[in-house]
Amino acid sequence: MKTLLPTSTAGSLPKPSWLAEPEKLWSPWKLQDEELITGKQDALRVTLQEQDQAGIDIVSDGEQSRQHFVTTFIEHLNGVDFENRKTVRIRDRYDASVPSVVSAVSRQKSVFVEDARFLRQQTNKPIKWALPGPMTMIDTLYDGHYKSREKLAWEFAKILNQEAKELEAVGVDIIQFDEPAFNVFFDEVNDWGIAALERAIEGLECETAVHICYGYGIKANTDWKKSLGSEWRQYEEVFPKLQQSNIDIISLECHNSRVPVELLELIRGKKVMAGAIDVATNTIETPEEVANTLRKTLQFVDADKLYPCTNCGMAPLPREVARGKLNALSAGAEIVRRELSN
Ligand SMILES: [Zn+2]
Repeated sequence: MKTLLPTSTAGSLPKPSWLAEPEKLWSPWKLQDEELITGKQDALRVTLQEQDQAGIDIVSDGEQSRQHFVTTFIEHLNGVDFENRKTVRIRDRYDASVPSVVSAVSRQKSVFVEDARFLRQQTNKPIKWALPGPMTMIDTLYDGHYKSREKLAWEFAKILNQEAKELEAVGVDIIQFDEPAFNVFFDEVNDWGIAALERAIEGLECETAVHICYGYGIKANTDWKKSLGSEWRQYEEVFPKLQQSNIDIISLECHNSRVPVELLELIRGKKVMAGAIDVATNTIETPEEVANTLRKTLQFVDADKLYPCTNCGMAPLPREVARGKLNALSAGAEIVRRELSN
């Protein structure tokens, strides 16, 4: 990466209202069949243009072709029955009716590769593609087949590795695995979660990232955050082992969260996508607020390893709010870039 402090977003961006109902997760599509396919491509063009206009350096599809960051991937796999639903607790936080694993899981064909190829054709900028991480995938399912979280995660890791290799082959520069579950199941993360993640990136030559966050600004997450006390030290549990792992980039929350910034010392040497935009509020940050957050992280991250980013995805936000936040991210990074070059 040539630009110092290259900006990007953690993942999803709002969808246009003609494609899906806005300001909602799991929003149903408004189009069908052929129209849906071209509609998703048009939405991808729009989201790319918005990132471009805001001056975002590493661009993405904004997850325009997915209803949800985990489910859409799983829907394409064999072995999971979406009719056969069971109620389970998601990330120890809320109950949800989820599909069941009923036989061996496998991927018959690529899930996102055509979308990634389309994105690659639209831009010369570096592109980042997000996939769900193995542990977060198993946490949204009832497993009636393997009856072992570790075994199921390992099977998903192998499938993710096939997908990631195809994404790399069509020109994706950074493949990111979303692992909010890493903030919850610390013993499992250290026992086998990071190993499963390393299985998912095995043999890849492009850059790899893991995104660990406190989630979208939905009620279940904000209620959970209220219960975490004045200091959020969850990262402390998994950073030492992640620092030792083969993952290149760690994407995390910094802005407006109660994460003590000195925890970044634990991943010294890794590239850090530092969240400098709060996705749980419609208030748009000022460039100076963004710059302030970035300055704090620079005490623990070398400047050439700092990638300004958002705390999490922005899918549930109003579009103009998301646009404002992209602009603030860009402007804030520019302030710090100028300071660094003085
Ligand atoms: Zn997130």
